[in-house]
Amino acid sequence: MNDRVIPLLDARRAAPIRAAGAADSGEPVADTRGRYMRDLRISITDRCNFRCVYCMPKTVFGRDYPFLPRSELLSFEEITRIARIFVAQGVTKVRLTGGEPLLRHDVERLIEMLAAIPGLELTLTTNASLLAKKARSLRDAGLQRVTVSLDALDDPTFRRMNDVDFPVAQVLEGIAAAEAAGLAPIKINMVVKRGTNEHAILPMARHFRASLSSTGHIVRFIEYMDVGSSNGWKLDEVMPSAEVVKLIGAEMPLAAIGPNYPGEVAERWRYQDGGGEIGVISSVTQAFCSSCTRVRLSTDGSLYTCLFAERGHDLRALLRAGQSDAKISAALGALWSARSDNYSEQRSVETAALKKIEMSYIGG
Ligand code: SAM
Ligand code: SF4
Ligand code: SF4
Repeated sequence: MNDRVIPLLDARRAAPIRAAGAADSGEPVADTRGRYMRDLRISITDRCNFRCVYCMPKTVFGRDYPFLPRSELLSFEEITRIARIFVAQGVTKVRLTGGEPLLRHDVERLIEMLAAIPGLELTLTTNASLLAKKARSLRDAGLQRVTVSLDALDDPTFRRMNDVDFPVAQVLEGIAAAEAAGLAPIKINMVVKRGTNEHAILPMARHFRASLSSTGHIVRFIEYMDVGSSNGWKLDEVMPSAEVVKLIGAEMPLAAIGPNYPGEVAERWRYQDGGGEIGVISSVTQAFCSSCTRVRLSTDGSLYTCLFAERGHDLRALLRAGQSDAKISAALGALWSARSDNYSEQRSVETAALKKIEMSYIGG
């Protein structure tokens, strides 16, 4: 086994949460920087059929990588129960992610269970490898929207980035199926890695721009981030979003538009000729920690209050110890009220080298 695996396993050991003693106010609480919990991301599997170079490089996530055994995964009932408790704490949006969430057996049943929670917006992020097959059943189960990851439209670049020789055409089929099933407008995430796929920016923008006959989808260009500790991140491989906007705007003039809701992480730009919009997510060059309302639940039930955390909090232990909803809610509130995370505001060469938890385990 590759010895670089060892730190990741260490990092997966979550800290215990103290349930006893905390009182549940029943009201959403702010963290130490005045931020409320709004978005919950749930990683429903740590496995993936891709090996994207910036997320699960083959050198680390090889054939003998110790993925979580089934018994460690939260069950659908446990996930739904936790989601209800989060909603009572102020969460309004749940995103299913991973790993590749569509690999989780019977994911439609989980979606049905979550869709029954009143007032919850339910979305999912996927590499779309199984989307052509599943778009209709996901929609029927109650999924409202989908985000698809796609890093280039040309096959050689995309195959090199997913590193499993997966063709672009099948992702495009998935996007078409999602549109036909009523999951549009679809957001398309493109991670821009300088030296690898910046030549794919303009073709992506042109392709997904609204034509007169279709509504178009929203491409979001994401700065390559130092998530986890296995992707060998280097600052000079980050292409700042400002450069992306300048590049696209030179060919297709853009104008800045305001956020859809407070705390939206993507900065929005519309095509001046009415061809729809794009977004840029600038976690590296323009940190948005001050309005970060995200909380993440790992595949095995650990809670992470930051994407770049080194340690999670063991929520599954509370669930499996038979704690009441009120106790778990109180513990959650206590954890959130102590939160001070602002990693992206402090990023440096030193912090980039820390043993952070992998994105495939806590979800993007
Ligand atoms: N497998 C699904 C997918 O790829 O859509 C869901 C999980 S993936 C971890 C979620 C998102 O994180 C994807 O859009 C992916 O491109 C993004 N991502 C992964 N590693 C990243 C990195 N190092 N920097 C920026 N975004 C990253
Ligand atoms: Fe898999 Fe998504 Fe990570 Fe790519 S970005 S390796 S598809 S989890
Ligand atoms: Fe939120 Fe952490 Fe990202 Fe800052 S670095 S925006 S606190 S997840």
